[in-house]
Amino acid sequence: MYYIGIDLGGTKIASMLINSEYEVLARLTVPTRHEEGEQSVIGRITGSAQHLCDSASVEMRQVGRVCVGSPGPIIRQSGMVLDAPNLGWKNVALAPLVSNALGVPVIVENDANAAAVAENLLGAGKASRNMMYITVSTGVGGGLVLDRRLYRGSGGAAGEIGHTTVLPNGPLCGCGNRGCLEALASGTAIARRGQEIAHRPAGRGIAQLAVDGPVTAMTVAEAARRGDRAATAILRDAFEYLGIAVANAANLLNLDTVVIGGGVAGIGDMLFDSVRYEVRARTFAFVAEQCKIVPASLGADSGALGAACCAAGACA
Ligand SMILES: [Zn+2]
Repeated sequence: MYYIGIDLGGTKIASMLINSEYEVLARLTVPTRHEEGEQSVIGRITGSAQHLCDSASVEMRQVGRVCVGSPGPIIRQSGMVLDAPNLGWKNVALAPLVSNALGVPVIVENDANAAAVAENLLGAGKASRNMMYITVSTGVGGGLVLDRRLYRGSGGAAGEIGHTTVLPNGPLCGCGNRGCLEALASGTAIARRGQEIAHRPAGRGIAQLAVDGPVTAMTVAEAARRGDRAATAILRDAFEYLGIAVANAANLLNLDTVVIGGGVAGIGDMLFDSVRYEVRARTFAFVAEQCKIVPASLGADSGALGAACCAAGACA
């Protein structure tokens, strides 16, 4: 039997065809172009699935299930995407629409949950029983694998560590709350602080690196690498908040592994050292000792691969 995983992102749709041993037989990435509307995005999803089958000489009827990893909250039972601002989608019956077009069963899963499954099964959390996956990029997402099963909570929204409060009355988050981790430690939050300081004398080091465009999180990271104090302070603050959130999760769940991925995690040691320090400083000694904090190992593959693993029934 074969399975297809599709990672539906704001800019691209990545897809993979795997067999029952989780071996990748074909992969494809196409632009999402969500501005062309829902029907055309769904057309690209079904087109990708068909292309994967064709390129691996697999018949669609040999595909046991397709899983689409989607941003934002979903309703698993009905296969609905409730609210995905990056796609401009609200209440889209994604699974039924894709299933009707392909003639195979289709499920939807939150994209960070799918990535958590991939890292748990095949990546940095391979030996883990109780794991949290956190992706720090434009936003901050998360997924929980507890007792080797994906933990979805009552309505499928478990693991949203990005919207846990780490600073009362902190900056306003896209979700409407103040002081969410996402509003303080995401790539967007780091870039915003970089942009603010770039207009001041202390931000000259950052401004000099952004002559050709806006200050991004990567501009701030590069300035910090060159020893810039303002950039270093911005990252130190962001990673302290991330560490606080991870320490809270470690205390709450007695995790054995926290896997951190996403573009901001690519900054590397500075992030991981801060998070490990906060966990050692803020959790019981035995909780800290049991909790490994490691970089994700599957990179951009984790979304599509995780969705394919979910299609195959992994961590169910
Ligand atoms: Zn929030």
